[in-house]
Amino acid sequence: MTDSYVKAVNSGFTKTLAKKLGLPRPAVLRRFRAGDPLTVGPVLVLGGTPGVADDADRVADALLGWDLDVRQNADDSTRWGAIVVVLTEIARPEDASPTVLALAANLRRLAPNGRVVTISRAPADGDDPALAAAREGVDGFLRSVAKELRYGATGNGVQLVTSRDEVPVDAVSSLAALRFFLSARSAFVDGQVLRVGSPVADVGVAGAYWDRPLEGKVAVVTGAARGIGAQVARTLARDGARVVVVDVPAAGEQLTTVANEIGGTALQLDVTADDAGARILEHARARHGGLDVLIHNAGILRDKLLANMTADRWDAVIAVNLAAQVRISEHLLGASGFSAEPRIVSLASTSGIAGNRGQSNYAFSKAGVIGHTRAFAARLADLGGTANAVAPGFIETEMTASIPFVTREVARRVASLQQGGRPVDVAEAIAFLASPAATGVNGQVLRVCGQNLVGR
Ligand code: NAD
Repeated sequence: MTDSYVKAVNSGFTKTLAKKLGLPRPAVLRRFRAGDPLTVGPVLVLGGTPGVADDADRVADALLGWDLDVRQNADDSTRWGAIVVVLTEIARPEDASPTVLALAANLRRLAPNGRVVTISRAPADGDDPALAAAREGVDGFLRSVAKELRYGATGNGVQLVTSRDEVPVDAVSSLAALRFFLSARSAFVDGQVLRVGSPVADVGVAGAYWDRPLEGKVAVVTGAARGIGAQVARTLARDGARVVVVDVPAAGEQLTTVANEIGGTALQLDVTADDAGARILEHARARHGGLDVLIHNAGILRDKLLANMTADRWDAVIAVNLAAQVRISEHLLGASGFSAEPRIVSLASTSGIAGNRGQSNYAFSKAGVIGHTRAFAARLADLGGTANAVAPGFIETEMTASIPFVTREVARRVASLQQGGRPVDVAEAIAFLASPAATGVNGQVLRVCGQNLVGR
């Protein structure tokens, strides 16, 4: 499944034509390839006070540790691969001004596929109003900046939670989120602010976790015979995991192909079966000795306007997309099925956040996923683990290929990145949330939607 329009407006005669006609020209996004540099050019770190050791210096030091070309002073000629905007120490709305205007002065020199990443602190209960205003302001600022970027560049924010302990700007999970947003792994994540809290497990030195962060872990991916699930399985295997791929018996042949491709094992199973949790656990233990990571990806569409909704359409969507996830997770937790520091990542959808005409059943199921993710997060944290959700926007798969052409075309172009995402974009976000270094990210919903205009 590809978006041939993106190819057409970036090559040959059709490129010239699109330019002349003033048609939208979505960029070819830079995606992760082993061995490629982390960013497309030098990184400018803005914020802080010259001569004072502060958060901006700590961020710059961490980036230097990743062998990046890091500058804290702008010049007139460098084309920036990324600009990191450190706003953690602002106390009043007017404090943001110097850093924001420094970003303004450098924005035109952001390279294609460049990155803007803000790092700020989340407002907390009991904040002084001026402090709360300043902190909340960064959120709206970042989302607007992201909409102004062009040529595949994205803007995202890391928001450090302050309610319990104050999470340091250079804590493992703060840096893991920063690194994800800087990298090509986040190609289709745009305009998002990710909350990072205190680590729920001691994962040691983050540097050890960047290359094959899932080495030694066992992961289960449901709905993995095709589409997003198959790509999640490949990406987790690339990151070192041994993967169990699960799908319905009717998709058995495709499932075996995926399992063989990644050296994993296949389990033919309908996730709505009463004993689905037990069978997953049995398989993971017997074939791999345990279970660390669970990705709830299996999902179906049965779109109808509510006035035309039938019981079979409603019930099927709720059963597969939502009830099965709750039942399987409950079983695994109840049976102490997970190894230490478990991770659950569940597929939500932007439809569950914003609502979508003709998708009341699907939106119920996907909003429900966000609900159980938040509820499971506290239980997982007690085990040193996390539960998070990923909400894709429009992703090019067989599921979305069934959407009528005009609706599909609109869904693609209303995103800031003016295109649909690829399964790998969702897979990279899931792999990040499953990685040990993301330990402070818990109970969150990360949208992978190219900053689709739909929703909050
Ligand atoms: P897809 O239809 O291509 O693949 C879904 C897979 O789930 C299929 O292999 C199917 O056989 C499997 N499946 C369905 N019912 C099952 C069951 N009862 N038990 C086991 N497996 C079952 O879909 P996709 O586009 O790859 O979507 C994957 C997930 O991402 C879904 O949860 C979907 O709702 C979500 N999502 C997709 C998009 C998108 O744009 N494609 C957007 C938002 C969310």
